Amino acid sequence: MASEEEVSLLVIVVDVNPIWWGQQGQREPQFTLPKCMDSVMVMANAHVAMSRINKLAVIASHCKDSHFLYPSPGGDSAADDACSSGDGKYELLSGANAVIADRIRNLMSNIEVTGGSTDTMLAGSLAKALCYINRVSKELEGIVFHEYFSFKLSCVIFFHVFFLVGQEVKSRILVIKAADDCALQYMNFMNVIFAAQKQNILIDACVLESDSGLLQQACDITGGLYLKIPQKAALAQYLLWVFLPDAEQRSQLLLPPPAHVDYRAACFCHRNLIQIGYVCSVCLSIFCNFSPICTTCETAFKMQLPQMVKGKKKKFKAS
Ligand SMILES: [Zn+2]
Ligand SMILES: [Zn+2]
Repeated sequence: MASEEEVSLLVIVVDVNPIWWGQQGQREPQFTLPKCMDSVMVMANAHVAMSRINKLAVIASHCKDSHFLYPSPGGDSAADDACSSGDGKYELLSGANAVIADRIRNLMSNIEVTGGSTDTMLAGSLAKALCYINRVSKELEGIVFHEYFSFKLSCVIFFHVFFLVGQEVKSRILVIKAADDCALQYMNFMNVIFAAQKQNILIDACVLESDSGLLQQACDITGGLYLKIPQKAALAQYLLWVFLPDAEQRSQLLLPPPAHVDYRAACFCHRNLIQIGYVCSVCLSIFCNFSPICTTCETAFKMQLPQMVKGKKKKFKAS
């Protein structure tokens, strides 16, 4: 029964960095962005098909911004076309696939990349995912009740909605990461990770190429799974095997061992990853070099310089 089930909301963030995918197409012509999107759709369909109340969102993370591929803001004609195609496919799945394919096509053909910003806007996409999760959770946990109740619908609908109200929403985010990390986003990224941790939202990461220290930390902090897949062409299999089961089911599976987490932080001055550095005692900013004034919060540090210790009091001696 619906009331006993938990709504499982899965937000898939796909790194669609055009520069990385362009190079990837030359390196491995058998694994391109359309192939990756096919795998994502397989997983998305599987998630939606697992339960009637499962929810899905797909976000494309581009260089300068991020876009919702599904659900599309303000309806799409592609979904209607797919629904009326009559090929016997479940309408919800074919509709979702059509919307995702349509929007990613538009996105990749319309946005031009200018020099300078070639990093994926991953922190922004994750923030968008968190906002979406928050909204959906709020809607399912109470606002729906008010709306329907005020409309005085029939008893059947009332009871149906009544069971939906107060429903726990279990949410997780899956990041499919292609391009390299961007240390410039370190601050935003960490803020997003801690926000997700506070909301009990898992962040999973499926890394296609080079390891990502930021995502390793995100998965470790939020309790998600980090996996750098050995074969890109087998993406769909890894998604279905490792990332489709939710946190509860995972405890019963024999999954790949946890990755080593790179806990180095990026200094705020040069965005270099450092092992040991100076930390501002007021705002906890990290610096690789000592500076008498914190550049983040502008606190001036009074250091014990030689001329300041002239009024030194008599030392106590241990007796
Ligand atoms: Zn520095
Ligand atoms: Zn400071």
